[in-house]
Amino acid sequence: MLTDTLHERLCAIVGSRHVLDDPALRDRFERDITGRYGAPATLVVRPGSTGEVADVLRVCDETRTPVVPQGGNTGLVGGGVPRGGEILLSLSRLDELGPVDELAGQVTAGAGVTLEAVQAHASAAGLAFGVDHGARSGATIGGMVSTDAGGAQVLRYGTMRAQVVGVEAVLPSGRVVRRLAGLLKDTAGYDVSQLLVGTEGTLGIVTAARLRLVPRLQQAVTALVAVPSMEAAVRLMRDLRARATSLNAVEVFFAEGMRLVCEHRRLAPPFTEDHPVYVLAECSDHDDPLDDLAGAIEDTLVLDVAVADDTARRRALWAYRDFLNEAVAAAGVPHKLDVTLPLAALAEFEHRVRDVIEQAAPAARTILWGHLGDGNIHVNVLGPDAQDERCDDAVLRLVAELDGSISAEHGVGVSKRRWLSLTRSEAEILTMRALKHTFDPHGILNPGAVLPDAA
Ligand SMILES: Cc1cc2nc3c(=O)[nH]c(=O)nc-3n(C[C@H](O)[C@H](O)[C@H](O)COP(=O)(O)OP(=O)(O)OC[C@H]3O[C@@H](n4cnc5c(N)ncnc54)[C@H](O)[C@@H]3O)c2cc1C
Repeated sequence: MLTDTLHERLCAIVGSRHVLDDPALRDRFERDITGRYGAPATLVVRPGSTGEVADVLRVCDETRTPVVPQGGNTGLVGGGVPRGGEILLSLSRLDELGPVDELAGQVTAGAGVTLEAVQAHASAAGLAFGVDHGARSGATIGGMVSTDAGGAQVLRYGTMRAQVVGVEAVLPSGRVVRRLAGLLKDTAGYDVSQLLVGTEGTLGIVTAARLRLVPRLQQAVTALVAVPSMEAAVRLMRDLRARATSLNAVEVFFAEGMRLVCEHRRLAPPFTEDHPVYVLAECSDHDDPLDDLAGAIEDTLVLDVAVADDTARRRALWAYRDFLNEAVAAAGVPHKLDVTLPLAALAEFEHRVRDVIEQAAPAARTILWGHLGDGNIHVNVLGPDAQDERCDDAVLRLVAELDGSISAEHGVGVSKRRWLSLTRSEAEILTMRALKHTFDPHGILNPGAVLPDAA
Protein backbone atom coordinates (compact mmCIF):
# COMPACT_ATOMS: atom_id res chain seq x y z
CA MET A 1 0.00 0.00 0.00
CA LEU A 2 2.82 2.37 0.97
CA THR A 3 4.64 1.38 -2.21
CA ASP A 4 1.51 2.05 -4.30
CA THR A 5 1.25 5.50 -2.77
CA LEU A 6 4.92 6.10 -3.30
CA HIS A 7 4.57 4.86 -6.87
CA GLU A 8 1.73 7.31 -7.53
CA ARG A 9 3.62 10.23 -5.98
CA LEU A 10 6.73 9.48 -8.03
CA CYS A 11 4.67 9.14 -11.22
CA ALA A 12 3.13 12.54 -10.49
CA ILE A 13 6.63 14.05 -10.34
CA VAL A 14 8.45 12.45 -13.30
CA GLY A 15 5.57 11.03 -15.37
CA SER A 16 4.54 7.36 -15.30
CA ARG A 17 6.66 6.66 -18.40
CA HIS A 18 9.75 7.32 -16.30
CA VAL A 19 8.83 5.11 -13.34
CA LEU A 20 9.68 1.53 -14.26
CA ASP A 21 8.21 -1.34 -12.26
CA ASP A 22 8.21 -4.01 -14.96
CA PRO A 23 11.10 -6.40 -14.07
CA ALA A 24 12.07 -6.74 -17.74
CA LEU A 25 12.54 -2.96 -18.05
CA ARG A 26 14.27 -2.65 -14.68
CA ASP A 27 16.72 -5.45 -15.37
CA ARG A 28 19.54 -3.46 -17.04
CA PHE A 29 19.59 -0.99 -14.14
CA GLU A 30 19.74 -3.73 -11.52
CA ARG A 31 22.89 -5.61 -12.57
CA ASP A 32 26.39 -4.16 -12.58
CA ILE A 33 28.85 -4.46 -15.46
CA THR A 34 31.03 -7.07 -13.69
CA GLY A 35 28.08 -9.42 -13.05
CA ARG A 36 29.11 -9.61 -9.38
CA TYR A 37 26.65 -7.13 -7.84
CA GLY A 38 22.98 -6.21 -8.06
CA ALA A 39 19.48 -7.10 -6.80
CA PRO A 40 15.90 -6.06 -7.64
CA ALA A 41 14.90 -2.44 -6.99
CA THR A 42 11.39 -1.49 -5.88
CA LEU A 43 11.16 0.94 -8.79
CA VAL A 44 13.49 2.62 -11.29
CA VAL A 45 12.84 6.37 -11.40
CA ARG A 46 14.20 8.56 -14.21
CA PRO A 47 13.85 12.29 -13.44
CA GLY A 48 14.36 14.76 -16.29
CA SER A 49 15.40 17.91 -14.40
CA THR A 50 17.05 19.10 -11.20
CA GLY A 51 13.63 20.17 -9.90
CA GLU A 52 12.29 16.63 -10.42
CA VAL A 53 15.32 15.14 -8.62
CA ALA A 54 14.59 17.50 -5.68
CA ASP A 55 10.91 16.51 -5.57
CA VAL A 56 11.74 12.78 -5.76
CA LEU A 57 14.26 13.07 -2.92
CA ARG A 58 11.82 15.05 -0.78
CA VAL A 59 9.24 12.23 -1.09
CA CYS A 60 11.85 9.53 -0.45
CA ASP A 61 13.21 11.34 2.60
CA GLU A 62 9.71 11.85 4.01
CA THR A 63 8.83 8.15 3.50
CA ARG A 64 12.34 6.97 4.56
CA THR A 65 12.73 5.20 1.24
CA PRO A 66 16.33 4.25 0.40
CA VAL A 67 17.68 5.55 -2.93
CA VAL A 68 20.58 4.25 -5.04
CA PRO A 69 21.77 6.83 -7.62
CA GLN A 70 23.02 5.57 -10.97
CA GLY A 71 24.66 7.21 -13.97
CA GLY A 72 26.04 5.03 -16.77
CA ASN A 73 26.31 1.89 -14.57
CA THR A 74 29.95 1.35 -15.54
CA GLY A 75 31.15 1.43 -11.91
CA LEU A 76 33.23 -1.52 -10.77
CA VAL A 77 32.57 -1.64 -6.99
CA GLY A 78 28.82 -2.33 -6.88
CA GLY A 79 27.90 1.14 -5.55
CA GLY A 80 25.47 2.08 -8.33
CA VAL A 81 23.16 -0.95 -8.31
CA PRO A 82 20.50 -1.93 -5.74
CA ARG A 83 21.20 -4.23 -2.83
CA GLY A 84 17.49 -5.12 -2.77
CA GLY A 85 14.32 -3.03 -2.40
CA GLU A 86 15.63 0.52 -2.94
CA ILE A 87 14.49 3.10 -5.48
CA LEU A 88 17.03 3.16 -8.29
CA LEU A 89 17.41 6.81 -9.31
CA SER A 90 18.79 6.96 -12.86
CA LEU A 91 20.29 10.33 -13.75
CA SER A 92 20.82 9.52 -17.44
CA ARG A 93 18.07 11.89 -18.66
CA LEU A 94 19.98 14.91 -17.27
CA ASP A 95 22.00 15.05 -20.47
CA GLU A 96 22.06 18.76 -21.27
CA LEU A 97 25.44 20.04 -22.42
CA GLY A 98 25.96 23.80 -22.35
CA PRO A 99 27.98 25.81 -24.88
CA VAL A 100 31.76 25.75 -24.41
CA ASP A 101 32.90 28.94 -22.71
CA GLU A 102 36.05 29.52 -24.77
CA LEU A 103 37.07 32.53 -22.72
CA ALA A 104 37.13 30.59 -19.45
CA GLY A 105 37.95 27.20 -21.03
CA GLN A 106 34.98 25.63 -19.27
CA VAL A 107 31.70 23.87 -19.95
CA THR A 108 28.62 22.97 -17.88
CA ALA A 109 27.43 19.38 -18.29
CA GLY A 110 24.37 17.65 -16.90
CA ALA A 111 24.98 14.61 -14.70
CA GLY A 112 23.84 12.22 -17.43
CA VAL A 113 26.20 13.47 -20.16
CA THR A 114 28.72 10.79 -21.13
CA LEU A 115 32.47 11.30 -21.00
CA GLU A 116 32.64 10.71 -24.75
CA ALA A 117 30.06 13.48 -25.40
CA VAL A 118 32.05 15.98 -23.30
CA GLN A 119 35.25 15.03 -25.15
CA ALA A 120 33.61 15.49 -28.58
CA HIS A 121 31.98 18.78 -27.53
CA ALA A 122 35.27 20.20 -26.20
CA SER A 123 37.15 19.04 -29.29
CA ALA A 124 34.67 20.78 -31.62
CA ALA A 125 35.55 24.03 -29.80
CA GLY A 126 39.31 23.44 -30.17
CA LEU A 127 39.75 22.27 -26.56
CA ALA A 128 39.94 18.92 -24.76
CA PHE A 129 38.80 17.29 -21.51
CA GLY A 130 41.56 16.22 -19.11
CA VAL A 131 40.09 12.83 -18.08
CA ASP A 132 39.91 9.79 -20.31
CA HIS A 133 39.29 6.10 -19.68
CA GLY A 134 38.06 2.92 -21.35
CA ALA A 135 34.38 3.31 -20.35
CA ARG A 136 34.09 6.69 -22.10
CA SER A 137 30.97 5.79 -24.09
CA GLY A 138 28.95 4.89 -20.98
CA ALA A 139 30.39 6.65 -17.93
CA THR A 140 28.56 9.88 -17.05
CA ILE A 141 29.75 13.15 -15.57
CA GLY A 142 27.60 12.58 -12.44
CA GLY A 143 29.13 9.14 -11.87
CA MET A 144 32.63 10.40 -12.58
CA VAL A 145 32.31 13.32 -10.16
CA SER A 146 30.84 10.98 -7.55
CA THR A 147 33.68 8.45 -7.86
CA ASP A 148 36.43 11.04 -8.48
CA ALA A 149 37.30 9.05 -11.61
CA GLY A 150 40.91 8.88 -12.75
CA GLY A 151 42.03 7.11 -15.92
CA ALA A 152 45.09 7.36 -18.11
CA GLN A 153 45.90 11.09 -17.99
CA VAL A 154 45.96 11.71 -14.24
CA LEU A 155 49.70 12.30 -14.16
CA ARG A 156 49.21 15.27 -16.51
CA TYR A 157 45.82 16.73 -15.59
CA GLY A 158 44.84 15.20 -12.23
CA THR A 159 41.70 13.20 -11.39
CA MET A 160 38.11 14.33 -11.91
CA ARG A 161 38.42 16.48 -8.79
CA ALA A 162 40.92 18.73 -10.59
CA GLN A 163 38.50 19.24 -13.50
CA VAL A 164 35.55 20.23 -11.29
CA VAL A 165 35.15 24.00 -10.91
CA GLY A 166 31.76 23.57 -9.23
CA VAL A 167 28.71 21.31 -9.03
CA GLU A 168 24.97 21.51 -8.74
CA ALA A 169 23.63 18.85 -6.39
CA VAL A 170 20.44 17.94 -4.56
CA LEU A 171 20.55 16.97 -0.89
CA PRO A 172 18.15 14.40 0.60
CA SER A 173 15.97 17.20 2.01
CA GLY A 174 15.38 18.39 -1.57
CA ARG A 175 17.61 21.42 -1.05
CA VAL A 176 19.62 22.35 -4.17
CA VAL A 177 23.24 23.52 -3.76
CA ARG A 178 24.52 25.17 -6.91
CA ARG A 179 27.96 26.50 -7.86
CA LEU A 180 28.10 26.71 -11.64
CA ALA A 181 29.37 30.28 -12.19
CA GLY A 182 32.83 28.98 -13.05
CA LEU A 183 34.80 31.28 -10.74
CA LEU A 184 38.33 29.93 -10.51
CA LYS A 185 38.95 31.79 -7.28
CA ASP A 186 36.15 31.69 -4.75
CA THR A 187 37.04 31.20 -1.12
CA ALA A 188 33.75 32.45 0.28
CA GLY A 189 33.19 29.79 2.90
CA TYR A 190 33.29 26.00 2.62
CA ASP A 191 33.62 24.41 -0.82
CA VAL A 192 30.60 22.10 -0.84
CA SER A 193 31.22 21.17 -4.49
CA GLN A 194 34.66 19.70 -3.76
CA LEU A 195 33.31 18.03 -0.63
CA LEU A 196 30.81 16.11 -2.76
CA VAL A 197 33.45 14.85 -5.20
CA GLY A 198 34.18 11.17 -4.54
CA THR A 199 31.31 10.62 -2.11
CA GLU A 200 29.68 7.96 -4.32
CA GLY A 201 26.12 9.21 -3.98
CA THR A 202 26.07 8.95 -0.18
CA LEU A 203 25.77 12.69 0.58
CA GLY A 204 23.94 14.21 -2.39
CA ILE A 205 22.84 13.68 -5.99
CA VAL A 206 25.01 15.51 -8.52
CA THR A 207 22.77 17.01 -11.21
CA ALA A 208 25.35 19.08 -13.16
CA ALA A 209 29.01 20.08 -13.07
CA ARG A 210 31.04 23.04 -14.30
CA LEU A 211 34.16 21.50 -15.85
CA ARG A 212 37.60 22.83 -16.67
CA LEU A 213 38.84 22.17 -20.23
CA VAL A 214 42.46 21.93 -21.37
CA PRO A 215 44.23 22.80 -24.66
CA ARG A 216 43.66 20.33 -27.50
CA LEU A 217 47.09 19.06 -28.50
CA GLN A 218 47.43 18.21 -32.18
CA GLN A 219 50.35 15.79 -32.14
CA ALA A 220 50.61 12.54 -30.19
CA VAL A 221 53.11 9.70 -30.11
CA THR A 222 52.52 6.36 -28.40
CA ALA A 223 55.18 3.79 -27.55
CA LEU A 224 54.68 0.22 -26.38
CA VAL A 225 57.86 -0.75 -24.57
CA ALA A 226 58.62 -4.30 -23.39
CA VAL A 227 60.84 -4.51 -20.31
CA PRO A 228 62.11 -7.47 -18.25
CA SER A 229 60.63 -6.64 -14.84
CA MET A 230 58.45 -4.31 -12.78
CA GLU A 231 61.63 -2.71 -11.42
CA ALA A 232 62.61 -1.79 -14.99
CA ALA A 233 59.07 -0.49 -15.66
CA VAL A 234 59.24 1.77 -12.59
CA ARG A 235 62.67 3.07 -13.67
CA LEU A 236 61.29 3.80 -17.14
CA MET A 237 58.38 5.68 -15.59
CA ARG A 238 60.81 7.75 -13.47
CA ASP A 239 62.83 8.68 -16.59
CA LEU A 240 59.70 9.53 -18.57
CA ARG A 241 58.40 11.76 -15.81
CA ALA A 242 61.74 13.49 -15.36
CA ARG A 243 62.50 14.10 -19.05
CA ALA A 244 59.35 14.06 -21.17
CA THR A 245 57.60 17.38 -20.59
CA SER A 246 54.73 16.38 -22.93
CA LEU A 247 54.01 13.10 -21.08
CA ASN A 248 50.31 12.18 -21.06
CA ALA A 249 50.09 8.60 -19.85
CA VAL A 250 52.22 5.72 -18.56
CA GLU A 251 50.33 2.44 -18.32
CA VAL A 252 51.58 -1.03 -17.35
CA PHE A 253 50.41 -4.58 -18.00
CA PHE A 254 51.90 -8.04 -18.06
CA ALA A 255 52.35 -11.13 -20.23
CA GLU A 256 49.15 -12.85 -19.04
CA GLY A 257 47.04 -9.75 -19.85
CA MET A 258 48.61 -9.38 -23.29
CA ARG A 259 47.85 -13.05 -24.08
CA LEU A 260 44.25 -12.73 -22.83
CA VAL A 261 43.53 -9.61 -24.93
CA CYS A 262 45.09 -11.08 -28.07
CA GLU A 263 42.99 -14.26 -27.69
CA HIS A 264 39.79 -12.41 -26.83
CA ARG A 265 40.02 -9.77 -29.58
CA ARG A 266 41.94 -11.98 -32.05
CA LEU A 267 44.72 -9.40 -32.22
CA ALA A 268 48.17 -10.12 -33.58
CA PRO A 269 50.74 -9.76 -30.76
CA PRO A 270 52.85 -6.60 -31.07
CA PHE A 271 56.22 -8.40 -31.00
CA THR A 272 57.54 -11.71 -32.29
CA GLU A 273 58.07 -13.01 -28.75
CA ASP A 274 56.27 -12.65 -25.41
CA HIS A 275 57.76 -10.36 -22.75
CA PRO A 276 57.14 -10.21 -19.00
CA VAL A 277 56.10 -6.54 -18.69
CA TYR A 278 54.71 -3.95 -21.12
CA VAL A 279 54.73 -0.17 -20.59
CA LEU A 280 52.51 1.98 -22.79
CA ALA A 281 53.66 5.61 -22.81
CA GLU A 282 52.11 8.53 -24.63
CA CYS A 283 53.25 12.09 -25.19
CA SER A 284 51.22 14.83 -26.83
CA ASP A 285 51.99 18.42 -27.73
CA HIS A 286 51.37 21.14 -30.32
CA ASP A 287 54.59 20.09 -32.08
CA ASP A 288 55.83 16.56 -32.77
CA PRO A 289 56.67 15.02 -29.34
CA LEU A 290 58.63 12.06 -30.77
CA ASP A 291 62.03 13.36 -29.62
CA ASP A 292 60.61 14.02 -26.16
CA LEU A 293 59.42 10.41 -25.83
CA ALA A 294 62.43 8.80 -27.50
CA GLY A 295 64.87 10.81 -25.36
CA ALA A 296 63.27 9.54 -22.18
CA ILE A 297 63.43 5.83 -23.04
CA GLU A 298 66.92 5.60 -24.51
CA ASP A 299 68.70 4.59 -21.27
CA THR A 300 66.31 1.93 -20.13
CA LEU A 301 66.73 -1.79 -20.48
CA VAL A 302 64.30 -2.19 -23.37
CA LEU A 303 63.54 -5.63 -24.80
CA ASP A 304 61.33 -4.46 -27.66
CA VAL A 305 59.57 -1.27 -28.67
CA ALA A 306 56.82 -0.24 -31.09
CA VAL A 307 56.15 3.44 -31.78
CA ALA A 308 53.14 5.00 -33.53
CA ASP A 309 52.37 8.61 -34.40
CA ASP A 310 49.21 8.28 -36.52
CA THR A 311 45.74 7.77 -35.09
CA ALA A 312 45.14 4.26 -36.46
CA ARG A 313 48.43 2.79 -35.27
CA ARG A 314 48.23 4.59 -31.91
CA ARG A 315 44.74 3.12 -31.39
CA ALA A 316 46.11 -0.31 -32.27
CA LEU A 317 48.74 -0.02 -29.52
CA TRP A 318 46.18 1.27 -27.01
CA ALA A 319 43.89 -1.67 -27.85
CA TYR A 320 46.19 -4.06 -25.93
CA ARG A 321 45.57 -1.95 -22.82
CA ASP A 322 41.99 -0.75 -23.40
CA PHE A 323 40.51 -4.24 -23.94
CA LEU A 324 41.95 -5.77 -20.75
CA ASN A 325 38.74 -5.07 -18.78
CA GLU A 326 36.57 -6.54 -21.51
CA ALA A 327 38.83 -9.59 -21.96
CA VAL A 328 38.74 -10.36 -18.23
CA ALA A 329 34.94 -9.93 -18.12
CA ALA A 330 34.62 -12.38 -21.03
CA ALA A 331 36.70 -14.95 -19.10
CA GLY A 332 34.53 -14.94 -15.95
CA VAL A 333 33.19 -12.88 -13.04
CA PRO A 334 36.32 -11.20 -11.65
CA HIS A 335 37.17 -9.95 -8.19
CA LYS A 336 38.39 -6.45 -9.03
CA LEU A 337 40.70 -4.69 -6.60
CA ASP A 338 41.76 -1.19 -7.62
CA VAL A 339 44.55 -0.08 -5.29
CA THR A 340 47.34 2.53 -5.05
CA LEU A 341 50.82 1.95 -3.72
CA PRO A 342 53.67 4.35 -3.03
CA LEU A 343 55.78 4.24 -6.23
CA ALA A 344 58.74 2.87 -4.28
CA ALA A 345 56.65 -0.16 -3.20
CA LEU A 346 55.15 -1.01 -6.60
CA ALA A 347 57.68 -3.67 -7.60
CA GLU A 348 57.49 -5.40 -4.20
CA PHE A 349 53.68 -5.38 -4.42
CA GLU A 350 53.73 -6.90 -7.91
CA HIS A 351 56.03 -9.71 -6.74
CA ARG A 352 54.13 -10.51 -3.54
CA VAL A 353 50.52 -10.09 -4.66
CA ARG A 354 50.55 -13.16 -6.91
CA ASP A 355 51.79 -15.35 -4.01
CA VAL A 356 49.28 -13.87 -1.60
CA ILE A 357 46.43 -14.67 -4.01
CA GLU A 358 47.76 -18.15 -4.68
CA GLN A 359 47.74 -18.90 -0.95
CA ALA A 360 44.19 -17.55 -0.50
CA ALA A 361 42.78 -19.17 -3.66
CA PRO A 362 45.17 -21.76 -5.14
CA ALA A 363 43.29 -22.23 -8.45
CA ALA A 364 42.78 -18.52 -9.10
CA ARG A 365 44.02 -16.69 -12.19
CA THR A 366 45.55 -13.26 -11.52
CA ILE A 367 45.68 -10.53 -14.15
CA LEU A 368 47.27 -7.20 -13.26
CA TRP A 369 47.41 -3.88 -15.04
CA GLY A 370 47.46 -0.27 -14.03
CA HIS A 371 48.20 3.39 -14.37
CA LEU A 372 51.90 3.17 -13.57
CA GLY A 373 52.48 6.90 -13.25
CA ASP A 374 49.93 7.08 -10.41
CA GLY A 375 51.06 3.96 -8.54
CA ASN A 376 47.62 2.53 -9.34
CA ILE A 377 47.35 -1.23 -9.93
CA HIS A 378 44.15 -3.06 -10.91
CA VAL A 379 44.26 -6.56 -9.46
CA ASN A 380 41.81 -8.89 -11.23
CA VAL A 381 41.23 -12.36 -9.84
CA LEU A 382 39.29 -15.00 -11.76
CA GLY A 383 38.19 -18.26 -10.17
CA PRO A 384 36.89 -17.71 -6.62
CA ASP A 385 33.09 -17.48 -6.16
CA ALA A 386 31.63 -13.97 -6.06
CA GLN A 387 30.92 -14.43 -2.31
CA ASP A 388 34.35 -15.82 -1.44
CA GLU A 389 36.31 -12.78 -0.21
CA ARG A 390 39.51 -14.51 0.94
CA CYS A 391 41.61 -13.20 -1.94
CA ASP A 392 40.14 -9.68 -1.57
CA ASP A 393 41.10 -9.75 2.09
CA ALA A 394 44.64 -10.98 1.40
CA VAL A 395 45.31 -8.39 -1.33
CA LEU A 396 43.92 -5.44 0.65
CA ARG A 397 45.93 -6.42 3.74
CA LEU A 398 49.10 -6.48 1.63
CA VAL A 399 48.22 -3.01 0.30
CA ALA A 400 47.80 -1.71 3.86
CA GLU A 401 51.10 -3.30 4.95
CA LEU A 402 52.87 -1.41 2.12
CA ASP A 403 51.20 1.93 3.06
CA GLY A 404 48.90 2.03 0.03
CA SER A 405 45.18 2.71 -0.29
CA ILE A 406 42.42 0.11 -0.74
CA SER A 407 40.79 2.31 -3.41
CA ALA A 408 42.60 4.34 -6.07
CA GLU A 409 39.92 5.53 -8.50
CA HIS A 410 36.89 3.20 -8.55
CA GLY A 411 35.69 4.06 -5.05
CA VAL A 412 34.71 1.89 -2.10
CA GLY A 413 31.14 1.10 -3.16
CA VAL A 414 29.75 -2.00 -1.50
CA SER A 415 32.70 -4.18 -2.42
CA LYS A 416 35.37 -2.70 -0.14
CA ARG A 417 33.57 -0.98 2.71
CA ARG A 418 34.40 -3.67 5.24
CA TRP A 419 38.10 -2.94 4.67
CA LEU A 420 37.88 0.86 4.88
CA SER A 421 39.54 0.92 8.30
CA LEU A 422 42.66 -0.75 6.86
CA THR A 423 43.74 2.53 5.24
CA ARG A 424 41.51 5.16 6.93
CA SER A 425 41.93 5.99 10.62
CA GLU A 426 39.14 5.79 13.20
CA ALA A 427 39.17 9.61 13.40
CA GLU A 428 38.66 9.87 9.64
CA ILE A 429 35.81 7.34 9.62
CA LEU A 430 34.11 9.10 12.55
CA THR A 431 34.36 12.39 10.63
CA MET A 432 32.85 10.70 7.55
CA ARG A 433 29.97 9.38 9.69
CA ALA A 434 29.36 12.87 11.11
CA LEU A 435 29.25 14.35 7.60
CA LYS A 436 26.90 11.60 6.46
CA HIS A 437 24.54 12.35 9.36
CA THR A 438 24.60 16.11 8.62
CA PHE A 439 23.85 15.73 4.91
CA ASP A 440 21.56 12.71 5.13
CA PRO A 441 20.11 12.43 8.67
CA HIS A 442 17.66 9.65 7.72
CA GLY A 443 20.30 7.64 5.88
CA ILE A 444 18.31 7.28 2.64
CA LEU A 445 21.16 7.94 0.17
CA ASN A 446 23.01 4.87 -1.08
CA PRO A 447 22.81 2.92 2.19
CA GLY A 448 25.34 0.10 2.41
CA ALA A 449 27.91 1.94 0.26
CA VAL A 450 31.27 3.39 1.37
CA LEU A 451 30.90 3.42 5.17
CA PRO A 452 31.22 0.15 7.09
CA ASP A 453 28.36 -0.87 9.38
CA ALA A 454 28.71 0.80 12.78
CA ALA A 455 30.17 -1.54 15.40
C1 LIG B 1 36.05 -0.76 -19.37
C2 LIG B 1 36.07 0.11 -18.15
C3 LIG B 1 37.18 0.91 -17.91
C4 LIG B 1 37.21 1.74 -16.79
N1 LIG B 1 38.32 2.50 -16.59
C5 LIG B 1 38.33 3.35 -15.55
C6 LIG B 1 39.49 4.17 -15.32
O1 LIG B 1 40.49 4.07 -16.02
N2 LIG B 1 39.43 5.04 -14.30
C7 LIG B 1 38.33 5.16 -13.48
O2 LIG B 1 38.33 5.99 -12.57
N3 LIG B 1 37.26 4.36 -13.64
C8 LIG B 1 37.23 3.46 -14.65
N4 LIG B 1 36.14 2.66 -14.82
C9 LIG B 1 35.05 2.69 -13.82
C10 LIG B 1 33.86 3.62 -14.14
O3 LIG B 1 33.76 3.89 -15.51
C11 LIG B 1 33.97 4.91 -13.34
O4 LIG B 1 33.85 4.59 -11.96
C12 LIG B 1 32.91 5.97 -13.67
O5 LIG B 1 33.21 7.13 -12.97
C13 LIG B 1 31.50 5.56 -13.33
O6 LIG B 1 30.58 6.43 -13.98
P1 LIG B 1 29.05 5.97 -14.18
O7 LIG B 1 28.31 7.12 -14.75
O8 LIG B 1 28.99 4.71 -14.94
O9 LIG B 1 28.61 5.74 -12.67
P2 LIG B 1 27.77 4.55 -12.04
O10 LIG B 1 28.47 3.26 -12.25
O11 LIG B 1 26.38 4.63 -12.48
O12 LIG B 1 27.87 4.95 -10.49
C14 LIG B 1 29.10 4.99 -9.82
C15 LIG B 1 28.90 5.54 -8.39
O13 LIG B 1 28.50 6.91 -8.44
C16 LIG B 1 27.19 7.08 -7.91
N5 LIG B 1 26.51 8.03 -8.82
C17 LIG B 1 26.32 7.90 -10.15
N6 LIG B 1 25.75 9.02 -10.64
C18 LIG B 1 25.58 9.86 -9.59
C19 LIG B 1 25.05 11.17 -9.45
N7 LIG B 1 24.60 11.86 -10.50
N8 LIG B 1 25.02 11.73 -8.22
C20 LIG B 1 25.47 11.05 -7.14
N9 LIG B 1 26.00 9.81 -7.21
C21 LIG B 1 26.05 9.22 -8.43
C22 LIG B 1 26.55 5.70 -7.88
O14 LIG B 1 25.61 5.57 -6.83
C23 LIG B 1 27.79 4.83 -7.63
O15 LIG B 1 28.10 4.81 -6.26
C24 LIG B 1 36.09 1.78 -15.90
C25 LIG B 1 34.98 0.96 -16.14
C26 LIG B 1 34.97 0.12 -17.24
C27 LIG B 1 33.76 -0.73 -17.47
